[in-house]
Amino acid sequence: MALKTVKEYIDSLRALNTRVYMFGEKVDNWVDHPIIRPSINCLAMTYQVAQEPENEALMTATSHLTGHKINRFCHIHQSTEDLVNKVKMQRLLGQRTASCFQRCVGMDAMNAVYSTTFEIDEKHGTDYHERFKKFLIMVQDNDLVVDGAMTDPKGDRGKAPHEQADPDMYVHVKERRPDGIVVSGAKCHQTGSVNSHWHLFMPTVAMREADKDFSICFACPSDADGIYMVYGRQSCDTRKLEGCSIDVGNAKFGGQEALVVLDDVFIPNEYIFMDGEYDFSGMLVERFAGFHRQSYGGCKVGVGDVLIGATALAAEYNGVEKASAVKDKLIEMTHLNETLYSCGIACSCEGCQTKSGSYLINLLLANVCKQNVTRFPYEIVRLAEDVAGGLMVTMPSETDFKSPTVVGKNGESIADVCNKFFATRPEVPTEDRQKVMRFLENICLGSAAVGYRTESLHGAGSPQAQRIMIARQGDMEGKKKLAKRIAGIEEK
Ligand code: SF4
Ligand code: FE
Repeated sequence: MALKTVKEYIDSLRALNTRVYMFGEKVDNWVDHPIIRPSINCLAMTYQVAQEPENEALMTATSHLTGHKINRFCHIHQSTEDLVNKVKMQRLLGQRTASCFQRCVGMDAMNAVYSTTFEIDEKHGTDYHERFKKFLIMVQDNDLVVDGAMTDPKGDRGKAPHEQADPDMYVHVKERRPDGIVVSGAKCHQTGSVNSHWHLFMPTVAMREADKDFSICFACPSDADGIYMVYGRQSCDTRKLEGCSIDVGNAKFGGQEALVVLDDVFIPNEYIFMDGEYDFSGMLVERFAGFHRQSYGGCKVGVGDVLIGATALAAEYNGVEKASAVKDKLIEMTHLNETLYSCGIACSCEGCQTKSGSYLINLLLANVCKQNVTRFPYEIVRLAEDVAGGLMVTMPSETDFKSPTVVGKNGESIADVCNKFFATRPEVPTEDRQKVMRFLENICLGSAAVGYRTESLHGAGSPQAQRIMIARQGDMEGKKKLAKRIAGIEEK
């Protein structure tokens, strides 16, 4: 089947029976819900941009399994060039949406599961890899969105999965049948879950033998019996219900996170890709996390590009674009943003082939990339707020800017007053200033912050998770040897 168009993607969502709850109620027509729709539009850009001739090379790839032309989000990386193109694709989409386009978690999960299942089979004589390849071909040929689902609720963080008072704190096998398993549990803050056709569930931590029933990986349709989602709130989300577009900041696009619950869901054998091989849960987690940490060197940089552009516009509208301090702040923002990109590219170029033949990023550099992402976007946002000024959080509403209510002695309306006092240069319409300020508010503090600022800290693992990996991959013993050799200290 050919690549899906935007319309075909949105129609395919309508055909699903996905159960979505928000503000305490079931949302039946979630595809057209004003809070959810911008996130669908955002994910749909992964389909739209793939249809643009000028972006075809970046957005599409040739399936190594079928030879078919597929969306790169469904591709298994076959070279370091593929890894680099992935990051470039993510930067492009960040530039086009200024938001989280959600489809990367599935791409990263599929790549992690692909190489890990090969190695599980090699050691345990299982046939997970062949099963996974069949699933993958179905995903590629139908141009589907798969949500990579990793983060369990975890309950008491001081306890292993099998020690939890409530076993549902980690997704686990509740019942075994000849034709499959029944699973129970949940995954928290799942990016794009409502907008996905399928979910690919993975364990969230390295496990031991006692955690065998929690060491599972499987795929499941998003509307399978027993699966439902509780939509995550975002800052300023109800502005989308007000019928205004300027106050929303980015009315076209947005991210999406949800709590995904597995309430005794049956998984047929053909969709099980790990069941009890606890010795590989660490590898799967490490690879998925590594891929997603690489991803942030692309998507966050693309959003950063838009943020820097909006900051420069705000400076222009305020008439301060020539001030050397402003210019220097924009340079600093660019320097930080490009440093993140350098990390994304570096961990891709330094990637290596796995036993399965697919390519994996350099894990140390991918973790360094994400560690920088936990810091630099905060500084970039600080500088954006510095240049833009406090108006981005104090400006009256869009309704005020349009209100005919008379307030002045000479018949001035609220709209007249707002437009008079928030004007800057005569050639700059006040509405454009409003738009750029609200847009900045959206990225820095509003609903896009879930895809930029706060997500930069916790998405793809919180900062400490990268530090653990950096410690593991940093080869301290090797570094000590280097020092000893030059300093003339003999090895004992
Ligand atoms: Fe993709 Fe970035 Fe969103 Fe993750 S946060 S799904 S990498 S856009
Ligand atoms: Fe993320």
